[in-house]
Amino acid sequence: MPSKETPSSRRGTSSTKKNASCSFCRKSYRDVGPLVEGPGDVYICGECIELCQSILDQEQRRRGPSKELFNEIPTPKRIVEHLDQYVIGQGSAKRVLAVAVHNHYKRLTSEWEGTSDVEIEKSNILLAGPTGSGKTLLARSLARMLNVPFAIGDATTLTEAGYVGEDVENLLLKLLHAADFDVEAAQRGILYIDEVDKIGKTSANVSITRDVSGEGVQQSLLKMLEGTVANVPPQGGRKHPEQQYIQIDTSNILFIVGGTFVGIEDIIRKRMGQRTLGFGGTSQRSELTDNELLSNVQTEDILQFGLIPELVGRMPVVSYLQQLDEDGLVRVMKEPKNALIKQFQALFQMENCDLKFTDEALHMVAARALEKGVGARGLRGILEEVMLDIMYDLPEQERGSVYTVDESIVSGSRKMFQMPTTKSA
Ligand code: ADP
Repeated sequence: MPSKETPSSRRGTSSTKKNASCSFCRKSYRDVGPLVEGPGDVYICGECIELCQSILDQEQRRRGPSKELFNEIPTPKRIVEHLDQYVIGQGSAKRVLAVAVHNHYKRLTSEWEGTSDVEIEKSNILLAGPTGSGKTLLARSLARMLNVPFAIGDATTLTEAGYVGEDVENLLLKLLHAADFDVEAAQRGILYIDEVDKIGKTSANVSITRDVSGEGVQQSLLKMLEGTVANVPPQGGRKHPEQQYIQIDTSNILFIVGGTFVGIEDIIRKRMGQRTLGFGGTSQRSELTDNELLSNVQTEDILQFGLIPELVGRMPVVSYLQQLDEDGLVRVMKEPKNALIKQFQALFQMENCDLKFTDEALHMVAARALEKGVGARGLRGILEEVMLDIMYDLPEQERGSVYTVDESIVSGSRKMFQMPTTKSA
C-alpha cells in the first residue's frame, strides 16, 4: 500500500507528503504508486518515467541510423549490380526498379528540398510476373541494400471497412514493426503489396466477405499510394473509435505492388494485334512468344484487369518478370549469394564432408519444378526431399567423405549414402 511506504530512497518518494501527485500526469500517488521527487515541488510517477524513456529511445533511433540513411544513394548501376547477386535474370525489371528507386530516394535528400520549386512526384512500381519469378525477392533485396524498413502485405486479405478482414492500415503497421516502431524510418520504407491483381473488379475469385467489386479496397489503397496521413492502430485489427492511433505519413513510402496477372498476355496480344490490324495486316500477331508479349506490358493492359484507373495511374512504373526456364532455375540453385546448393554444402561442411551436384541432377530438379508450375519457389521443397535420406544419416557417417548427387539420386533409384567416396587430401 502506498501509505505504508518509507521514504527510503535518496531522492525520496512522496509518501511523506500526503497530497503529492505526479507533475506530468497529475495522478495521485495513491493511484500510480511511489513517486520520485525532484527539486522543488516536482514529482514523477513510474508510468511517466517509462513513457519518457520510450520517447527518448524513439528520438535516439530517429537521430541515429535513419538520419544517416540517405547520405549516399547508390546509382542505378550499383543497384542492379547488387540485385544481380541475389536475383537471376529479370534484367529489364531490375533496370526499371533501379532507376525508380534511385529517383525516389534522391527526391528525399535534403539538398533538393528548398532549392527548387519543382516538386518531384514519387513513382510507385507495379511488378507483374508469374509466381516464383522473383518479385518479392527483388523488393526485399532492394530494401536490404538501401537499409530501409521493408514489409510484405497481401492485397487479398484487405477489405473495405465494415466487411470481415483487414484494413489497409494494417499494412503500414507491418512496416512500422519492421522499423522497430521508428515512425520516421517507416515513413521512408518500402512496402511490397502482393496479389493486387486479385482485387480487380473483374476478378473471378471475389469473396462475399469482401465488398463485391473490390473497388472499396482499391480506393483505400489509392489513398495510401497517393500519400496521406494514415491512422494506424498499434495493436492491429479493426479500427475502433476509442483507440489511440499512430499517425504515419505515406507520401515518402515507396510502394511496390505485385501480381501474377494470369492471362495478361492475351490482353496484350489483343491490343497489339488490333494495332497491327490498323496498319494493314495481322500476320505479326502470332509470331510473338508469351515472354515477348509480356515485355510489352503497359498500363492499359493492367487496367483491363479490373483495377481502377486512378490506382493504376499511381503506379506509373510497370515492369514484367519473365517465367524462369530450366536453365534459369538451375542458375537459381547455383549462383545467388545464398543459393540453395551453397546452403546444403555449408551444412555438409559442418560435418567435414563435401557435397557435389552434377549438372544433369540439377536440370532434373529444375524440370520437376517447372512441371509443378510454381517457378523457383518449388526448388527448395524438391531439393529437401531429394536430400532427406542423406541428411538423416549424415551426422553418423564417416567424416571426410565426398557425396555426389547425380540423376539416379534425384530420380530416387539410388540412395546416396551407400556410395560416399573419401576426400583426397
Ligand atoms: P514471387 O514472384 O511469387 O514473389 P518470390 O520472389 O517470392 O516469387 O520467389 C520465391 C523464391 O524463389 C525466392 O525466395 C527465391 O529463393 C526464389 N527465386 C524466385 N525467382 C528468383 C530469381 N529470379 N533469382 C533467384 N531466386 C529466385
